[in-house]
Amino acid sequence: MSTRAYLLLGSNLGDRVARLAQARRDLAATAGRLVAASALYETAAWGVEDQPAFLNQALVIDTELDAPALLAACLATEQQQGRERLVRWAARTLDVDILLFGQEIVATPSLTVPHPALPGRRFALVPLAEVAPQLVHPQLHRTIGQLLADCPDPLAVTRVSH
Ligand code: ADP
Ligand code: MG
Repeated sequence: MSTRAYLLLGSNLGDRVARLAQARRDLAATAGRLVAASALYETAAWGVEDQPAFLNQALVIDTELDAPALLAACLATEQQQGRERLVRWAARTLDVDILLFGQEIVATPSLTVPHPALPGRRFALVPLAEVAPQLVHPQLHRTIGQLLADCPDPLAVTRVSH
């Protein structure tokens, strides 16, 4: 039985558009069937401000994998594009996060789903709301559209393409 998973891609180094495109191809090959992809959205870097802006994109993937195996596929996709984990919040070629995995709740040292930062991050909620506005958060019992309407994050998120 497949599970519908919601991923967030992010890049703020190098050819960001090409990196996201490569990530979509990699994930379609390793993680499951790509059902939908949001537009690309640009946001100033969060946490550390003296670095390039991020491009983000939400993906909807129907996967046969379980959540830990999907995380492994996400991390392999990052590594494929040369990501190095040196400094927290440093500029990165590619970040692939699991926002939601069906209605599953996962809380292990290496994986937390739903992604705990989702309700507070406009750069994640805006692309996710484009592809799944009615999706209900399994812990907060509110839709993504409602979470976005109430999100206090002040950083502007600008749609840059479809
Ligand atoms: P961030 O995405 O917060 O900037 P990283 O991409 O460096 O941080 O991720 C560090 C670790 O976070 C990953 O190796 C992974 O084990 C863990 N992690 C926990 N929950 C998730 C999730 N929902 N999606 C992606 N990674 C997660
Ligand atoms: Mg990450």
